Amino acid sequence: MVESQPHQVRDKFNRPIRDLRISVTDRCNFRCVYCMPREVFGPGYAFVPRSELLRLEEIHRVARIFVQEGVTKIRITGGEPLIRRDLEQLIEMISGIDGIRDLSMTTNASMLTLERARSLYGAGLARINISLDALDQETFQEINDVKFPVSDVLSGIDNALATGFSNVKINSVIRKGSNDHSILDLARHFRGSGATLRFIEFMDVGSTNQWQREQVMPASKMIDIIKTEFPIAPVSPNYEGEVAKRWRYLDGSGEIGFITSVTQPFCRDCSRARISAVGKIYTCLFASNGHDLKDLIREGASDAVLARFVREIWSNRIDRYSELRSDASLTRDSAARIEMSYIGG
Ligand code: SAM
Ligand code: SF4
Ligand code: SF4
Repeated sequence: MVESQPHQVRDKFNRPIRDLRISVTDRCNFRCVYCMPREVFGPGYAFVPRSELLRLEEIHRVARIFVQEGVTKIRITGGEPLIRRDLEQLIEMISGIDGIRDLSMTTNASMLTLERARSLYGAGLARINISLDALDQETFQEINDVKFPVSDVLSGIDNALATGFSNVKINSVIRKGSNDHSILDLARHFRGSGATLRFIEFMDVGSTNQWQREQVMPASKMIDIIKTEFPIAPVSPNYEGEVAKRWRYLDGSGEIGFITSVTQPFCRDCSRARISAVGKIYTCLFASNGHDLKDLIREGASDAVLARFVREIWSNRIDRYSELRSDASLTRDSAARIEMSYIGG
């Protein structure tokens, strides 16, 4: 269990700040239909110009300040983080910050060669989460929408395992009518493989993915499907605020997880802050507004000023979007919400 530090800043619901997700790019080589649909993210789409991206030293500084304020876990994400130039250098810089207990990355693994996996590991990356929504070529290509072959992602997963990353996780977003037939395929494939599979309920992030509640497959249903072939039982969480609900195969062949953001929200324990590739702080995945840290940095603000800014934002935090989602009286302005590819998963 991760304990909070004595001086740790708390939000309005007494939640500490423990995790920081850093998006290092808003670009991606996939066009997953539920994340960066090509009708929106087509050739004319205006991605962030390079000069607007936080530079490596700026990201490192931001990470250091968040760690001072209590963050112990950092996840690198995007867009597709492997696209970012000098990623290994960034990881080396961040892993050197005193106080970080966990440094991980979420990737589509399309570019995760053995050489790349080794250089990331050597730079200090401790864990990798790989996204893979289907095992059959047709469904996978229908989802990534760039005809990317599933075999290359499977090689990326093998490379992560061969390199020695601890606790490699495979994340699969399940959408009814798209890839719900993949649940058992994925469970069969990854059971006993050394990688832990986690199913994610499809969320209403952003405003371009045409989310409909009917497309959400509740984790309870996924569990029923898995039980038709494999007996599983729940496991108690590793630590307070653990996002995935853990289950284990009764035959001892490992664990499987479920991220129930829609049907059983976990805002009560949410200790995650996010920083976008352009240096805006978001205190919720469903936020419509970020707080601009980059301007402050580029105006020459001191560490003390930046730290105060972070503390002020966190201490005023009242986000609990997923808990409120089920409340019919809540009107949601979905047009303004930030996109997942911009803010990171
Ligand atoms: N490109 C990297 C990847 O795909 O792993 C990292 C960024 S991606 C935005 C992070 C994760 O968010 C992926 O696992 C993706 O499947 C998930 N994701 C994107 N949109 C989602 C949605 N609407 N609901 C649930 N998960 C979503
Ligand atoms: Fe790219 Fe990841 Fe979004 Fe797919 S889910 S489009 S791989 S950022
Ligand atoms: Fe955290 Fe917002 Fe998700 Fe709730 S909806 S768990 S506050 S990111």
